[in-house]
Amino acid sequence: MTDRTFSIIKPDATRRNLTGKVNAMLEGAGLRIVAQKRIQMSQAQAEEFYGVHRERPFFGSLVAFMTSGPVVVQVLEGDDAVARNREVMGATNPADAAEGTIRKEVAESIEANSVHGSDSAENAAIEIAFFFSDDEIVG
Ligand code: GDP
Repeated sequence: MTDRTFSIIKPDATRRNLTGKVNAMLEGAGLRIVAQKRIQMSQAQAEEFYGVHRERPFFGSLVAFMTSGPVVVQVLEGDDAVARNREVMGATNPADAAEGTIRKEVAESIEANSVHGSDSAENAAIEIAFFFSDDEIVG
């Protein structure tokens, strides 16, 4: 089924000018970028977006990292977009990521791991609505 997921190209990747490389890997995996914008996340936005991790020891560091430079927020469309994107992203820790995945190819560390992708269709809808209005998504 064609559906949508939410993606972020994180500050470690924008800093190294890897937006195009990541996008080529997403497109190569069969995903269409149907909305995209480069933004500077505020501290409040990052804290709310990662609210589920608020009690984790790395929360403060993660929020500082996600606000350390521009990010590219995206809506991706494709067959089984959520699972397809998680597959091309690779494991959270690049040391565990499979060959050919974005995190294996470009991530710097478990925190600076270059991309975010929704983990369920339900969260994808919430995350898309957090950053995009309907008229910004052109499929
Ligand atoms: P994801 O769904 O693969 O992005 O992983 P999670 O939802 O578990 O974690 C969200 C984000 O928090 C990850 O993408 C990393 O940027 C960061 N993160 C996860 N685990 C750790 C950790 O153990 N240490 C640090 N510093 N950051 C982490």
